[in-house]
Amino acid sequence: MLLEIRDVHVHYGKIAALKGITVEVEEGEIVTLIGANGAGKTTTLKTISGLRPLSSGRILFNGQDISRMPGHKRVLAGIGQAPEGRGIFPGMTVTENLHMGAYARKGDVSKDLAEVFELFPRLAERKNQAGGTMSGGEQQMLAIGRALMSRPKVLLLDEPSMGLAPMLIQQIFTIIEEINRRGTTVLVVEQNAQQALQLAHRAYVLETGRVLKSAPASELLDDPEVRAAYLGGG
Ligand code: ATP
Repeated sequence: MLLEIRDVHVHYGKIAALKGITVEVEEGEIVTLIGANGAGKTTTLKTISGLRPLSSGRILFNGQDISRMPGHKRVLAGIGQAPEGRGIFPGMTVTENLHMGAYARKGDVSKDLAEVFELFPRLAERKNQAGGTMSGGEQQMLAIGRALMSRPKVLLLDEPSMGLAPMLIQQIFTIIEEINRRGTTVLVVEQNAQQALQLAHRAYVLETGRVLKSAPASELLDDPEVRAAYLGGG
């Protein structure tokens, strides 16, 4: 198992956001977390990347307990995150933003840069443009590209489709599939359950800080309860 979240509880002050979440991600998989607003999807990702402390439970990465490891060390260990709301550096160029993704790494990054530009030709076309002047979809690509620059073993994606036009959503999902095909494990949080379930191998349905169901994604696409609650119909 590459990543194991075992019975994790997280609080914001007195509010319990995660009430014993268990999620497992095997090497090579695309796993998705779906659920309504406030279910705890973003909090789960933040806890894995070290942005939120856990109150109890454990997170194992490659069998090692990383529950108390600082965030920057988790990046070095192979956990890459493209956060919700992009989080790019608006005043820096596309290329500079991408270099920031590799800042903690030693050695030559030109090969990685070339690979990101190959995955995202749009970023290559605009490599000298300031990140902040890119469109929403382009900034999303930049955020994913920057996360890839750290050569993650697992890539955490928070709502990659958020705010994008349908055609761009399709493009982003196709690229995520390609990133996975090239060997990166992916854990993706999505409100867009239909598309996330089509993309992923396995899925977890979160509800108010708990795992309601977990199953192969194709099974959940046919699950009446999931269809009614998250796929807009029967
Ligand atoms: P969304 O899709 O709306 O982003 P989510 O499933 O990602 O939802 P989280 O953002 O993880 O949900 O939130 C889980 C719970 O924790 C919610 O009840 C939310 O209000 C609460 N919460 C999240 N961030 C904070 C914070 N900084 N302070 C207090 N409560 C928070």
